[in-house]
Amino acid sequence: MKPNDFMQFAQKLWPLNRSLTGRGVVQTLQLIKEIIPELSIKHVKSGTIFLDWEVPKEWNITHAYIIDPSGNKICDYSENNLSLVGYSIPILGSYTLDELQKHLFSLPEQPDAIPYVTSYYKEFWGFCISQNLRNKLVEGIYQVVINGTLQNGQMHFGELVVPGSSKKEILISTYICHPSMANDQISGIVVSTFLAKWISENPERKYTYRFVFIPETVGSKYYISQNYKKLVKNVVAGFNITCVGDERCYSYLPSRDGHTLSDQVARHVLNTEVGDYKTYSWKDRGSDERQYCAPGIDLPIATIMRSKYGCYPEYHTSLDTLENFVTANGLFTSYELYQKCLLTLENFCFPRATILGEPKFDKRNMKPYLSQKKDYVNHILISEFLTWSDGRNSLIEIAEKCNVSTLELIPIMKILQDSNLIIQIAGRKNNN
Ligand code: ZN
Repeated sequence: MKPNDFMQFAQKLWPLNRSLTGRGVVQTLQLIKEIIPELSIKHVKSGTIFLDWEVPKEWNITHAYIIDPSGNKICDYSENNLSLVGYSIPILGSYTLDELQKHLFSLPEQPDAIPYVTSYYKEFWGFCISQNLRNKLVEGIYQVVINGTLQNGQMHFGELVVPGSSKKEILISTYICHPSMANDQISGIVVSTFLAKWISENPERKYTYRFVFIPETVGSKYYISQNYKKLVKNVVAGFNITCVGDERCYSYLPSRDGHTLSDQVARHVLNTEVGDYKTYSWKDRGSDERQYCAPGIDLPIATIMRSKYGCYPEYHTSLDTLENFVTANGLFTSYELYQKCLLTLENFCFPRATILGEPKFDKRNMKPYLSQKKDYVNHILISEFLTWSDGRNSLIEIAEKCNVSTLELIPIMKILQDSNLIIQIAGRKNNN
């Protein structure tokens, strides 16, 4: 897979009008399924009650626009799906400019941008418009056309469970409910889809992997309500993947606990592979980690992002595009970073040496009889690895003591294991 594959998939997803429900969500899931054919596309009826919530009505729009007093079409949804407030009720009517203003949204501080606005849980209609265009609106009568339906239907979501040798699971979740915005929406879908493809095509897996593609908040809550026991029993680590497309910075948002396996892995991989990144706190949460990490659910879900939602000027506006902000390289390198997290998770253990004292390395072909520089460096790492392999240090802790990444230690751990010099223990050995 190459960076361009990521961008091409992003471009296919771009025009679809995603929301909590509707055709755009189904089309998005179908495009994901083209890449991961085992994906199950599931649905639940509007009005279904779960936890403290209810599945919303299904929203579909065929066209929406305003005709200004001169007969020009403005705020045309077919040109930019951010132009219509999400979940606007269908309507046909004439309004004075004053009346219309109550239904218009713009950003005075970003006069070129069309904002992203939704009204999921209160029936309303509205249009989003650049401040520049809004300033040019003249007195007169405006015709408003919002053609579509808001009625009982289905909420769709996708699920892919890739079994491993263990029933213990890694959960990867991303949301599929935002319309055409690149970093806060499309990047999460693209990176999660290609990770799912990579995992399903890799024949060797310790963990079972659960990928979910859901509408944010209402979708993750519904998914938890249906899978609560399984998730709580089996999920050992996971990530909510969002905002992984630009190249400005990396950032990390911890789980509520802050010290879960996912947090350890995320921090280690960011420290060793990136170095310079922003660390947010649980206070800065804003996506589906709010549900996964909620009291009583407490799944170990952390988040690695590039520019975090709410923290970049293009966020939730028409400026968050595939042309000016998200890049093929940004998408691809985020994917590679998550691959490294999953590789670290797959190999995570507490290695324990099986012999007393240092083994005779040269006898085991682990140290050449003739010492050369490159072999020597590697040999030091073998020796360092072994000296910390007491069952009390995790793979990550050993990597940190050796000042290398876990990815450098994994091949060494395999050599030592094949030579019966260490065993991998799943949990930390007690001091006694
Ligand atoms: Zn968002």
